[in-house]
Amino acid sequence: MGELIVERPEGLYCPPGDFYIDPWRPVARAVITHAHADHARAGHAHYLAAAPGAGVLRARLGDISLQALAYGEGIDHGGARLSLHPAGHVLGSAQVRIEYRGEVWVASGDYFVSGAGDDNLSCAPFEPVRCDCFITESTFGLPIYRWRPQREVYAEIDAWWRANAAAGRPSLLLGYSFGKAQRILAGVDASIGPIFVHGAVEPLNRAYREAGVALPATRLVSETSDKAELRNALVIAPPSVLGSAWTRRFADASDAFASGWMQLRGARRRQGVDRGFVLSDHADWPGLQNAIKATGASRVIVTHGYEAVMVRWLQEQGLEAGAFSTEYGDEALDVAADATAAVASHD
Ligand SMILES: [Zn+2]
Ligand SMILES: [Zn+2]
Repeated sequence: MGELIVERPEGLYCPPGDFYIDPWRPVARAVITHAHADHARAGHAHYLAAAPGAGVLRARLGDISLQALAYGEGIDHGGARLSLHPAGHVLGSAQVRIEYRGEVWVASGDYFVSGAGDDNLSCAPFEPVRCDCFITESTFGLPIYRWRPQREVYAEIDAWWRANAAAGRPSLLLGYSFGKAQRILAGVDASIGPIFVHGAVEPLNRAYREAGVALPATRLVSETSDKAELRNALVIAPPSVLGSAWTRRFADASDAFASGWMQLRGARRRQGVDRGFVLSDHADWPGLQNAIKATGASRVIVTHGYEAVMVRWLQEQGLEAGAFSTEYGDEALDVAADATAAVASHD
C-alpha cells in the first residue's frame, strides 16, 4: 500500500492527488481544513475548502481563488477521490478523506468531540469517517484533559454574568475571535443583558450568521459611549486586548478567559483574570480516543501536540502509530490575527 499523505517542507502532501493539506508554505493547490490562521495561510494559488467555511476564509484571506465543496461531496483529484466531512471544530471545519486504489486515509485537521458526548453548538458536529489510516490532531492529548458537559460550563458563565450584572459591573469574557467567541454566543443566556463584542469578533459573527448559524444580537463596543449600557452587559473580546488601552473602559469589569487551557492549574492566574472557564474547540482525551476508535483505522499518525503520549497509547492498543511534525501552532498565529484585526478595526 502506498502512502496517501506524506510530509514535505511545504506541508502535508497527497502524492496521488497532487495537493497539500493546510500547507505552511505557498503551493499551487491547497486543501484547507479550516480558517484558523495556522491552517489557512495566505499565498496559495488555489484553495479548496468546505462550503460552510467559505465566508470565514474570505473574511480572513480576502479575494482568494476558492473552490467550495459541500460536506460529503466527492471530487476526483489526480487519481485520488477527495471529500470533506464535518470536524465540529469551527464553522466550515473539515476532515479530508482521500481514497486511492481501494485505500482510504483521513486527515482530521482540528476537531471537537468530547467524552461527555457534546456537540459544538455553532457548527456541524464531528462525523466519524471509516478509514485505513487516520491523521489525528492531539492538542489536548493528555489524560488530564476531560471536558465537563458544556451546559454546565454555560451555566457557570451565565451565573458569573448574572452576578456581575446585579452588581452593576460589565462581564468581560476573553476568547479567540474565530470559533470561541461564536461558541460562547451560541450557548449563553442572552436574556441576562445586552451583548457587546470587540471589532475583531463581529466580522466573524456576520460570517456565521450568513452561513445560517443562530447567534444572539451583538453590538460593537465602539458603538456606545454610554457607560451605563455596559453595566449589565456581556462583552466578548479576543485575549490580545489584555493590557491594551481598549480595556481601560472596563476598569471596573469582572474579567474571565474561556479556553481549554483553563483546565491547567495556574493558567487563570497567569492570564491575570478573575475567572477561567474551561471551554475548548478541541477534542478532550476521551474524545480523541473515541474518535480514533470510530474510524476503525489500523494506522494512526499524530500531529499538533503531545504526540509522544498519544503515540504510546495507540501502540498499547495494538495500532500502528507514528507522528508527523507540522507547523500548526497552538493558537499563537490566531492571536496575531486577532491583534491585526483589532488594529485594522480600531476597536
Ligand atoms: Zn483550529
Ligand atoms: Zn490547529
